[in-house]
Amino acid sequence: MRIEKDVKLDFEDVLIRPKRSTLKSRKDVDLERTFKFLHSSKTWTGIPIIAANMDTVGTFEMARTLSEYKMVTALHKFYNVDEIKEFFKDFNKPDSVAYSLGVRDEDFDKLRSVLAEGLGEKFNFICLDVPNGYLEYVTGKLRELRELCPDHIIIAGNVVTNEMAEELVLNGADIAKIGIGNGSACTTRLQTGIGYPQLSAVIECSDAAHGITKHEKGCGLIVSDGGAVHPSCVAKAFCGGADFVMLGSLLAGHDQSGGELIERDGKKFKEYYGMSSGKAQEKHYGEKPNYRASEGRSLSIPYKGDVNVFVEELLGSLRSTATYMGARRLKEFSKRATFILVNRQLNKSLERYNTENF
Ligand code: 5GP
Repeated sequence: MRIEKDVKLDFEDVLIRPKRSTLKSRKDVDLERTFKFLHSSKTWTGIPIIAANMDTVGTFEMARTLSEYKMVTALHKFYNVDEIKEFFKDFNKPDSVAYSLGVRDEDFDKLRSVLAEGLGEKFNFICLDVPNGYLEYVTGKLRELRELCPDHIIIAGNVVTNEMAEELVLNGADIAKIGIGNGSACTTRLQTGIGYPQLSAVIECSDAAHGITKHEKGCGLIVSDGGAVHPSCVAKAFCGGADFVMLGSLLAGHDQSGGELIERDGKKFKEYYGMSSGKAQEKHYGEKPNYRASEGRSLSIPYKGDVNVFVEELLGSLRSTATYMGARRLKEFSKRATFILVNRQLNKSLERYNTENF
């Protein structure tokens, strides 16, 4: 039995050291990035934050709103071809949408019909998503996808270790999707014991992916997927080397999110459930197959209103992180940041008084 003895880190294990800065105002911070890719010949410019391809997050309404900020929405895979066609009639921002699919034959058949309808030009990203990206079968499907869509920006995952991030990038992914067991609606760690602390996964996988380059092309990239519970986690992911950050629960619960609005004791909640939760499987496949444990849970989270308010707060927080570190551009986050290991994140001393914000 081999035990890896160095401690792996989560977002809440570190803080970012402030540094001398010549910035005058948060307004001076540029959160947009421009990427070239290893496989696709496209160039992308925007704020590299992606709404997760969950049916409670990756909705058409979310895409319409986030595209205003040049952010990306990974549409969930349960929209049918007619719905997709209808949406793209008056939505023309390919840089802001990812089409999502799994590795089943029907997923690929649906993609083929979407392409046959001429809709392939309407989205620049494609997200090939399976909970376990370690299966050889998945790498095979990724190669098939790359052949089918040679010039799309392909995101594929999920994995958490350097050698598999490399494997995905070498087999056709422009962006390896990183994160297993860290999502807020995920129970994989409880169910299976499998996982990897997210910040270390990001640091190790980005290092591996960035090392793969081709002449006059970009390098392999990664997206940190899941586990962000505050804007500071998003900042830490970028500091750790993430090129993109994917958000589930932070974007859930808003007007533009999916999931039902529930009223209980005069308070409003919205549903947020994992895509392999019993709830999602029953909803989309009619029942939960017996051989599958449900590795996700179903939550009701307090209703949060318009997502624009949250996005402004998130971007404001990232700009503030940048000014504390002296980073003029998002690109500089990973170069400027020094993490410090901490035993305590927050001063919670007043919590015992049951205080309320006013
Ligand atoms: P969050 O931002 O809420 O922490 O995490 C969102 C991510 O959790 C998603 O992008 C996806 O990778 C992951 N996820 C979503 N549903 C499930 C699920 O049912 N089980 C597991 N293991 N992960 C999930």
